[in-house]
Amino acid sequence: MTTPPFFDVRMRGFRARAAVADVLALLDRRTAPLAASPVPLSAAAGRVLAGAVASAVDVPGFDRSAMDGYAVKAADTAGATAGAPVALDVVGEALPGRPFAGAVCGGQAVRVMTGAPLPAGADAVLVAEVAEERDGRVLAKAAVAAGKNVGRAGEDVTRGRTLLAAGRALRPQDVGLLAAVGVGAVGVVRRPRVVVLVTGDELLPPGSVPTGYRIVDSNSPMLAALVGRDGGECLSTRTLPDRYDAVRDAIAAADADVVLVSGGSSVGTEDHAPRAVAESGELAVHGVALRPAGPLGVGYVSGRTVFLLPGNPVSCLCAYDLFAGRVVRRLGGRRWELPYRTTTLPLAADVASAAGRVDYVRVRVSDGRAEPVGGGASMLSSTVVADGFTLVPAERERLAAGETVDVWLYD
Ligand code: AMP
Ligand code: MG
Repeated sequence: MTTPPFFDVRMRGFRARAAVADVLALLDRRTAPLAASPVPLSAAAGRVLAGAVASAVDVPGFDRSAMDGYAVKAADTAGATAGAPVALDVVGEALPGRPFAGAVCGGQAVRVMTGAPLPAGADAVLVAEVAEERDGRVLAKAAVAAGKNVGRAGEDVTRGRTLLAAGRALRPQDVGLLAAVGVGAVGVVRRPRVVVLVTGDELLPPGSVPTGYRIVDSNSPMLAALVGRDGGECLSTRTLPDRYDAVRDAIAAADADVVLVSGGSSVGTEDHAPRAVAESGELAVHGVALRPAGPLGVGYVSGRTVFLLPGNPVSCLCAYDLFAGRVVRRLGGRRWELPYRTTTLPLAADVASAAGRVDYVRVRVSDGRAEPVGGGASMLSSTVVADGFTLVPAERERLAAGETVDVWLYD
């Protein structure tokens, strides 16, 4: 793709808006997972496996007792009952990690604890509850079938079995299983490094109280949380004045895989980021047929993906989730899709849209229906009240009450 000469759209409006599907296709084409590096198991939980892991061993590696009791030859206990017990000679003991050295012969038993290697010659374990040991002998008060209370070698994991697939975000139990098969370190995808640049002379830093005509930056804490959720590492957040050279220089200096610029992405006089990206690299997208979040920009500067996210907080959330988050997730080896559960629900009211435009509609789930939540792109509280959102497809001009829609749930 060649970059056309930069056309300053400020105070003229977008000439054309890219289709959401085309922007997604562009991102997918130009994004591949980052390189892998080994990490010890102690640091592996939550990380994404770069390659599949197979077991080189059987677990357990030996037949073992699953209960505390007596290892016996099952046939010796045939017919045993509480009233007519069978007596066996106790010839020794097996403990976890400390096997019985000999073998169990007919008429004999070996005291065993859970996890102890099953002694040679034995084929079942009589549980302690139906056994009574006295003077070197044990009374079996029940019969046991062959194989009873015995864990077989390889019953948990068979050698050669693939345990975990590439792309797996490791759960705590995955890490435990890796340890069980003798793996001490795994190759994981490097976490995408993200820098957040916040523009807006009107902004006060988070932690301030809004005063006079100044508002508090809500986008940078929200973006940092979104990046963390998607497996990225938010390296830093910088607040920039609405000045062309400041925005340009900060984008050029951002040493990261992904640069998120909040605000200044549209066609106002203070919207410097599109030109900064166009003149430092490539502005591949400026303006998308999506509401809110129409003033989205996507660019590439020095091999980094730069997202120009609209400053209005709802637009910022929507643009991050649909586009920037997709890249963060993909770079980190995760699934591209939104990390939200989906459900299908009937709409509680009509929703207006426009042909060719996708609409991100916040909804509340109530009485089994998706009820649109009102509020403009500046009203972040609408996304707090909402349980999720639905997307009106580009080809639809409206959705009617009662129609079933896909809903992505924030939780
Ligand atoms: P902009 O995209 O810079 O034109 O900003 C659009 C609207 O979003 C303006 O009302 C800004 O004051 C507001 N805004 C911009 N950045 C932020 C931010 N970080 N947090 C909250 N609101 C913002
Ligand atoms: Mg601004």
